[in-house]
Amino acid sequence: MIKIENVHLAYRNQEVIKELSLHFTAGEFCALIGPNGAGKSTLLKSLVKFLEPKRGKIVFNGKSLADWKHKELAKNIALIPQEFQLQFDFKVRDLVLTGRFPYLGYWQNYSRRDIEIAEEVLHRLDLFSLKDKMFSQLSGGEKQRVSIARALVQETEVILMDEAFANLDVNHQLEIMQIVSKINKEQGKMIILVSHNINLASDYCERIVMLKKGKLIADGHPRDIINSVTIKELFDADFDIVENPISGRPNLVYPGKKSFTFDSFAKPEVPSQTK
Ligand code: ADP
Repeated sequence: MIKIENVHLAYRNQEVIKELSLHFTAGEFCALIGPNGAGKSTLLKSLVKFLEPKRGKIVFNGKSLADWKHKELAKNIALIPQEFQLQFDFKVRDLVLTGRFPYLGYWQNYSRRDIEIAEEVLHRLDLFSLKDKMFSQLSGGEKQRVSIARALVQETEVILMDEAFANLDVNHQLEIMQIVSKINKEQGKMIILVSHNINLASDYCERIVMLKKGKLIADGHPRDIINSVTIKELFDADFDIVENPISGRPNLVYPGKKSFTFDSFAKPEVPSQTK
């Protein structure tokens, strides 16, 4: 469905993604993980044509992205950004409705059907009671649910989520992951999300892609690729990996005090008293 073939992505002269090849099939649930600056957001941007590859090509449903018109692509792939850069505040209902933009004709207003779709999604994500609230007045978890609602009214086969859990407490991270997982299972949409919560990604996703400095470090089922070696390579840090007794998936355990040596905090040498 999505074929990324020998792709190089760059901003001016700074090469961010280097000769990357990845294939995604319909209905996949995949997490992109890796350190800050690895190129995860850049990769997502390239999948919605916000950034064209310098070399290589990206093919969606058999057609090179270069040949997709933005509006047509937006009916197939939705990107949930890290943060909405809103020029002015929107009511929840109006922001969610903007997901219908790709379906509007020139100067055309929303149809009854567009409004029905938006209202149905607002109900499904338990946002209907907030529909007249301003977006800026919502909590982080509510804002993220609104972003998902907007992507759902776009009615795409693919949803990309950048920094899916940014600024969310653990409870809301779990809530968002459960919502997204349900969308994947029940509606068969392909989800590719960027996550810094590796344990949550491991517990819920069927595939993990590890990126570092624009290169692929590992790609596969969490059970096959999350281990202390790949995590060390990815983050230059030592973590123990244990099996989560509930999900049966590998989880990172913070090393706690055991890995710290306090030598560097040894008492400073006191200069000898000169008499
Ligand atoms: P990640 O999502 O893995 O944290 P990004 O894709 O955001 O990484 O960034 C990868 C590199 O590209 C970083 O060095 C970042 O500074 C650079 N970068 C990201 N966006 C831009 C931009 N719009 N213009 C120039 N450089 C950018």
